[in-house]
Amino acid sequence: MTPCIPPELVTSFIGGAPVKGGPQRLAVYYPATGAQVSELAEADAAEVDRAVAAARRAFADRTWRLMPTEARQTLLLACHDAILAHADELARLECLNLGVSLRELRERHIARAAYNFRFFAEFIGQTRGEVYDQAAGYRTIVVREPVGVAALIAPWNAPTALASMKIAAALAFGNTCVVKPSEQTPLALARLVELLHLAGVPAGVLNLVNGRGPVTGAALVAHPDVDLISFTGGTETGRQIMAEAGRRLKPCTMELGGKSANIVFASADYDRALDAALTSIYSNNGQQCLSGSRILVERSISDRFIADFLDRAARIRIGDPMDDATELGPLASGAHRDRVIGYADIARAEGIEVLLGGAAPANLPDALAGGYFAQPTVAVAPDNARRTTQEEIFGPFATFLRFDSYEEAIEKANGTAFGLVSYLWSDYLPTVERATRDLRSGVVWVNTTMTRELRAPFGGYKDSGVGREGGEACLQFYTEPKTVTTPSTPMSPRRFGLGT
Ligand code: NAD
Repeated sequence: MTPCIPPELVTSFIGGAPVKGGPQRLAVYYPATGAQVSELAEADAAEVDRAVAAARRAFADRTWRLMPTEARQTLLLACHDAILAHADELARLECLNLGVSLRELRERHIARAAYNFRFFAEFIGQTRGEVYDQAAGYRTIVVREPVGVAALIAPWNAPTALASMKIAAALAFGNTCVVKPSEQTPLALARLVELLHLAGVPAGVLNLVNGRGPVTGAALVAHPDVDLISFTGGTETGRQIMAEAGRRLKPCTMELGGKSANIVFASADYDRALDAALTSIYSNNGQQCLSGSRILVERSISDRFIADFLDRAARIRIGDPMDDATELGPLASGAHRDRVIGYADIARAEGIEVLLGGAAPANLPDALAGGYFAQPTVAVAPDNARRTTQEEIFGPFATFLRFDSYEEAIEKANGTAFGLVSYLWSDYLPTVERATRDLRSGVVWVNTTMTRELRAPFGGYKDSGVGREGGEACLQFYTEPKTVTTPSTPMSPRRFGLGT
């Protein structure tokens, strides 16, 4: 392993180079120890304006947006290679401000970031236009063009994996962009932006601003020269951004929160369903929009299933995220850890049994004493109408609900304001067929854990979002159709002013 030293100061990256950084500084912490590992220079509205102006200039200069597709593919593949060549460094930087295990970061997040570039390189090699020649004497073609300057706003729970998806898609279709990561997790993305430039991304095409949402993010969203906004984050933030985008008639996609149901029927493959229930809630330290945080189990198997789940959850190895044996690292910030643990008190107060966890773990090594750790938590709720079963906790907090019939399972699964993902476990085909039809969510994963297929649309129903990401969905979002009509033989316009 190469040692990885985070930069002392993370600044914006505008027009192909890092900027000096203004006076407003924010500390960046290592969640496993609570130690400060870096500092962020927050971009104010003036710096955001410079970033958008750089992106606008790069878009106005036709070189980038008219780059031949095959040249763009070569560039995107060079980005893919650069990420893989620096996978260890990127994973370490990500770990230092996120606390997800190095192993999970290397194997899932950074690998996915590289794949995002390869995917869009391949995708743009296969896109087609449209031709309409049914009208006599005319041929109409529809071509797709980049929209312009994209604002790409990412959350802290999977900074590189999620932001790279937006960057790869925006660039693949010829847009320029300004990326704003979460202020908590700027490290790996700042390095990624440098690496992408070294791989050949032209100056001004990809710009980075860092800072808090209400400061840097709000300035970016409100900037009149931003043409489209891709946002991943919390539902309330999404509402604010979409209201602002609506006022300015800017297209946007919103990938928001979730409270996904993981439905386990008695007809499920029991062992696989158990493994997957644990994975769906405890991977990424429990901080996933798509986590299966409400586990709905058919009553006939529920006592055994909950007991087995508890046994396994209690044995999860909590600890140093740099250690490959660790299964659950710290939460991303102290405030977030307190919020997650606080839900155990909320649960008890609303009559929910908390069978495991609901506290910081004891017996951590001294070196991790200042870290933001929370135990895996398991609760069993009598019904679905509690805060614990309705609100996104975004931590290693599993809540069980029992059900007696198919109808009850579907009613409970659909009974939240969210609709991102549903997990469905049954080996009985008619149940699977019915449930995939009846579940109100953008994604249904049948007999599997998280399996994000980039070719297919990903996104949520209801409060989980608006719009989709994925191959075709990104083509629709990051390009505009242009309709060009030409006569196939010279046409004869009506001759005004000649009296004929
Ligand atoms: P958040 O909404 O607090 O912040 C997300 C990003 O928006 C950050 O970069 C933040 O600085 C910025 N921001 C905040 N306020 C802003 C404003 N007024 N204007 C512009 N930008 C602003 O979310 P978070 O806490 O970073 O992330 C966790 C949330 O993200 C969870 O709700 C989770 O479910 C959701 N999420 C959704 C998906 C998905 O694909 N649906 C994926 C990952 C995370």
